[in-house]
Amino acid sequence: EIMLQQTRAEVVKDYYLRFLQAFPDVQALAAAPEERLLKLWEGLGYYSRARNLQKAARMVVFERGGSFPDTYGELLTLPGVGPYTAGAIASICFERPVPAVDGNVLRILARMLALSEPIDAPAVKKRIARSLAAVYPEEDRGAFTQSLMELGATVCLPAGPPRCALCPLSPLCAAFQAGAALDFPKRREKKSRKAEKITVFLLSCRGKLAVRRRGESGLLAGLWEFPNEEGELFEQQALDLAARWGAAPLRLTKSQRRTHIFTHIKWEMTAYFIDCGAESSLFTWAEASELSKTYPLPTAFKMFLP
Ligand code: SF4
Repeated sequence: EIMLQQTRAEVVKDYYLRFLQAFPDVQALAAAPEERLLKLWEGLGYYSRARNLQKAARMVVFERGGSFPDTYGELLTLPGVGPYTAGAIASICFERPVPAVDGNVLRILARMLALSEPIDAPAVKKRIARSLAAVYPEEDRGAFTQSLMELGATVCLPAGPPRCALCPLSPLCAAFQAGAALDFPKRREKKSRKAEKITVFLLSCRGKLAVRRRGESGLLAGLWEFPNEEGELFEQQALDLAARWGAAPLRLTKSQRRTHIFTHIKWEMTAYFIDCGAESSLFTWAEASELSKTYPLPTAFKMFLP
C-alpha cells in the first residue's frame, strides 16, 4: 500500500518483488542500511515514504516486540500510515469494517450520489469515509474494500468515460441514471505549481562525474544529486562557478533543458556538460555505471546521465 501511493500497480510490481527479496521480514527492513533502502526505492519517488516505512518497521520490532498492529487506530500511529493506508491494511489484512478512501473510491461515490460538493475538500472526504464505514458488510470486508478499488481502476475510470454498461452499481448510480457520469466528481480549483529555475552541472573528469549528497531535510532529502545552483546561469557564468569549485573546467561540451514535475513545484532545469581537469574535493566522483548501481539518484537528475 505504501508503494502504491501515487502510482499504479503495474509500475510497483517489480519494485515490490525486489524489495521483499532484499527485506523478507520486518526485522530485515528495520536493520537495513538507509542507502540500500533508498537505492531499492529509486525511481518510485516520494522517498520519505521509504524512510517512514523503515521507521514503522523499527517501531514494530523495537517497541511492539515484533507484533504488527491490527486495528485502524493503532495502524495510524505508524509513521507514514495515514487514514487511507490504515483503512486498507485494517480491512484487507484484518477484516476490520474500515474503508480505504482514495481517489477511486471518492470518484465512485461522487458519481453514485451525484455529489455537487468537491471531493478534494477534507470535510467532504471525511463525510464520505464515515458514510461508507456505516454500510460495511458483516463479512468479507477486505474483499469489499478491494472491490471498490478494483471498480475504480477498471470500470468507473478516472480518465475518459466510465464503463457504465459493465458496472454492477449502475442501477444505484444517480449520475448514470441522469446521463451525467462525466459531470462528476467535482473538484476545487487547482493552485498552479510554482516553477523554479535550476542550473545543473555534469562535471566530468577522467571518465567520472561529480555528485554530492543533498541535505537531511526538504525535497529529496538525503539523496544524491549533480551539483546545481538556483536560477538559470549563462554558459560563461557556469564555467566560472565550476572554476570557483576547483574543478578546473576545460570546455563546455553540451547543454540540455529539461523539466521535472514534483507535487507542488516544477523544476525548469538547464544542464551544462563540462569537461574538467581536476576532481574538486567538494564532490564525490563516480563513473556513470557506478552512479546507476550504487547511488540513490532521483529521476530529476538521473535523466541527464549519459
Ligand atoms: Fe461509475 Fe458508471 Fe458505475 Fe456509476 S454506473 S459507478 S458512473 S461506472
